[in-house]
Amino acid sequence: MRVGQVSENIPIASLTTLGVGGAARFFMEARTDKDVEDAVAFAQHHTLPLFPLGEGSNILVPDTGIKGVVLKMSLQDVQIKDDGDSILLITGTGVPWEKVVDEAAARGIFGIENLAGIPGSMGGAAVQNIGAYGAEFADTFEYADSIDSTTGIERRINRVDASFAYRTSIFKKNRTLIITHVALRLAKQAIPNIAYADLESARAEGIPLTLPIEVVRAVRSIRARKFPRGVGEGTAGSFFKNPVLPRARFDELAKHFPDMPAFSQNEDTVKISLAWLLDHVLSLRGFSLGRARLYEKQPLVIVASAGARAAEVDALATEVARRVFVATGICIEREVETFGLHE
Ligand SMILES: Cc1cc2nc3c(=O)[nH]c(=O)nc-3n(C[C@H](O)[C@H](O)[C@H](O)COP(=O)(O)OP(=O)(O)OC[C@H]3O[C@@H](n4cnc5c(N)ncnc54)[C@H](O)[C@@H]3O)c2cc1C
Repeated sequence: MRVGQVSENIPIASLTTLGVGGAARFFMEARTDKDVEDAVAFAQHHTLPLFPLGEGSNILVPDTGIKGVVLKMSLQDVQIKDDGDSILLITGTGVPWEKVVDEAAARGIFGIENLAGIPGSMGGAAVQNIGAYGAEFADTFEYADSIDSTTGIERRINRVDASFAYRTSIFKKNRTLIITHVALRLAKQAIPNIAYADLESARAEGIPLTLPIEVVRAVRSIRARKFPRGVGEGTAGSFFKNPVLPRARFDELAKHFPDMPAFSQNEDTVKISLAWLLDHVLSLRGFSLGRARLYEKQPLVIVASAGARAAEVDALATEVARRVFVATGICIEREVETFGLHE
């Protein structure tokens, strides 16, 4: 397909890591800001919602498809700016997150090495405020340039306005913001953050973890053991968020499940391990409905086998949420979003 061109009824399952779901009513691709503006104008002209698509690693596309314009974000430019003790790394939001991590590691600059191995694009990372191994996207975020899909107005969003929190941001709450570029502020010197248990164990085994490139290698190797890579199997990583409970509610639950892993968020809230609940309380490791199942090595992850439909993934997720509620009274939230639902 030519860039800027509008295609109709394009299947997009293959543009997602779950690999399920139907077609986009209209499909466009943006490699420049101008392409984004053209897509906004097209969607406005036809009074249709516009859905930016990154690498499709955090979405479930419904079997009925997307009744709007899907805009594949392919802005690929990368700029490096020296700024005293730090470096500004600015990229188009179509740049794969792994490439952003490699750019930083190759220059020996710190800040995103713990986030190695996470699929997706720079844009998706900002929307989701990706996190892993004790680090979050928000830690290094400087600003994002965006275009509002309903007004066409351009806006630079700084760290305060981005409202980052656990797997969320202003971009997730305000779905009309299409991010074109993101700037990260990375440090020339730092002590790597290797307090997370898996990294501590790696260090104890003698694996060097001083340089960003060393942390990147270690994190990728740890992650490779945890996520499914079977041929013909799809996944969007952790399908659910870990529940964050008020402390009093947590204390009550801990009386029933004293071994449950928990992490204090602040004085008032505690994050608990949903994977542990699914495994030890509900025995749901490997639980399947149709061609969708909870991954045997990590039950927070849903795996879709070849030929699975989005409805099967959705039914499994709904059933898991129901069982968690019955057993614990907790309403769990999905981390993976059903694509194309907002207008
Ligand atoms: C095996 C596996 C492991 C994973 N591990 C982790 C992990 O450790 N930690 C973690 O946090 N996540 C993890 N994820 C989830 C996923 O990788 C991230 O959420 C990722 O950042 C999504 O990026 P994407 O480009 O694929 O976004 P997509 O799935 O394409 O889109 C996600 C949302 O972002 C919006 N969006 C995308 N680009 C833009 C843009 N430019 N402007 C505005 N909105 C946009 C989309 O409209 C959609 O709403 C994992 C996923 C997989 C498959």
